[in-house]
Amino acid sequence: MESALQSPRFYITTAIDYPNAAPHIGTALEKVGADVMARFRRMQGMDTLFSMGLDENSQHVLRAAEEANVSARAWVDRMDEVFQGAWASLNISYDRFIRTTEEVHIAASEELFRRSLERGDIYKGTYSGWYCPNCNTFYDDDDLVDERCPNHPTLTPEWLDEENYFFALSRYQEPLERYIADHPDFIVPTTRRNEVLGWLRDGLRDFSTSRLVRNLTGERWGITVPGDDDHVMYVWYDALTNYLTSAGFAHDDERYARYWPADVHVIGKDITRFHCLYWPAMLMSAGVPLPRQVVVHGWWNLEGKPFSKTTGNVLDPRDAVAEFGTDPVRYYLMREGSWFQDGNFARANLVQRYNAELANDLGNLLNRTVTMIGRYCDGRLPAGSASAAGERETAVQHAAETALRDATAALDGWEFGRALDAIWQLVRRGNQYIDESQPWRLARDPAQRAVLEAVLATSAESLRFQATLLGPFMPGTADRMLAQLGLDGIAPGAWRDLRWQPDGSGRPVPGGSPLFPRLSA
Ligand SMILES: [Zn+2]
Repeated sequence: MESALQSPRFYITTAIDYPNAAPHIGTALEKVGADVMARFRRMQGMDTLFSMGLDENSQHVLRAAEEANVSARAWVDRMDEVFQGAWASLNISYDRFIRTTEEVHIAASEELFRRSLERGDIYKGTYSGWYCPNCNTFYDDDDLVDERCPNHPTLTPEWLDEENYFFALSRYQEPLERYIADHPDFIVPTTRRNEVLGWLRDGLRDFSTSRLVRNLTGERWGITVPGDDDHVMYVWYDALTNYLTSAGFAHDDERYARYWPADVHVIGKDITRFHCLYWPAMLMSAGVPLPRQVVVHGWWNLEGKPFSKTTGNVLDPRDAVAEFGTDPVRYYLMREGSWFQDGNFARANLVQRYNAELANDLGNLLNRTVTMIGRYCDGRLPAGSASAAGERETAVQHAAETALRDATAALDGWEFGRALDAIWQLVRRGNQYIDESQPWRLARDPAQRAVLEAVLATSAESLRFQATLLGPFMPGTADRMLAQLGLDGIAPGAWRDLRWQPDGSGRPVPGGSPLFPRLSA
């Protein structure tokens, strides 16, 4: 598309997931947050590339496939359907879903590896350490907690001693220090940046970038090291490379020139080290420009306890969607708590927010407005002449413009809850406005006709603002609101083009059923 080539571009990624088990609602939090950001940038008119995917080359896959008694290939194909099904149920709008077993990804990983090899940053050595198969990483004695993996308290890592290829991370100590100092926004939030600076102060050690094939169990799986069939790449090495592959690296030069470097990698707090130290060093070594930002979100509990497959404290996003609907789940994940801190998913809290904020505040405001336009104006939007508009109407317009400004600033800073707060100021103002204006009383007095029309036109315009601002968060709801108001759904650029502009066309306002039927607690 020619017009897309003219617009500024925005490339956003999430972490890619191990397809060893179905995703849970905590994983969904990351995807919904990234989706809100991708939709926001598209609505700002940006040519957006949003990439997600599966990290298929890990040893987890072999174990899971063995347990299910299928080949690894059959297993990853099955999990691809499970994951993409879950993301579809949450209306996640990725443009690219990368699987690391794809040929183009293998080629990209080989190219990156080869460049560092040629530069002397990848060399052969002997590795000894405690290997946690779930982390796919080696630990020293000091790293273990009660002889168990620091991230997996139920797992005892095994001692491994093998010939590996290493990446010379230690050589990048100073370049990384300088880069992070020169780019204060590279790692967000500051707490994570400080954590990374702490690791840098402790000193960087080279890391293993390959595994010896004969030490691995099961079928041969993973990307072969270029020129050495005895080794496959360490899964983190090729996993990180997915961000380059999605942007066309080593297979689509035009796409690569357009989208790389990435604007933002969205990740969870457990993988900061890989994204803020390993990855930038790998890119520097290969002569590839660095991503502009890594945004690190917190982790969620479920009903006050950590997610755990072993204790059964899990919630499949598809089950949550089946119970509450796509947009209420998206809304709750973005509304509750801060993106950067740990949060908690609690069913009772979701039901309470659904009833108070979605059914009462938002659903009611739309329903009473379109119902009155139907009843008093034959289902057509009144022009709402400016001469009949007074202070109250000006105040609603002001509230709408404030909500737009505040929500934009909050979204720019990844403060999803604050953006929704700003939008809800407008929603509540809209209900208050109707309560104060009492259109049902105005309707009884023909002399008040112009005022009645101004009130309904103002309320409809305020709802158009609300629908547009909710577009990134609740895209289905936004489109339904606009349809009930007689308007087309959210279009690219809709946020950028949003202005207070009551429409005097007398367009039909068809209305419809309530957006959010109340839930019983
Ligand atoms: Zn572990």
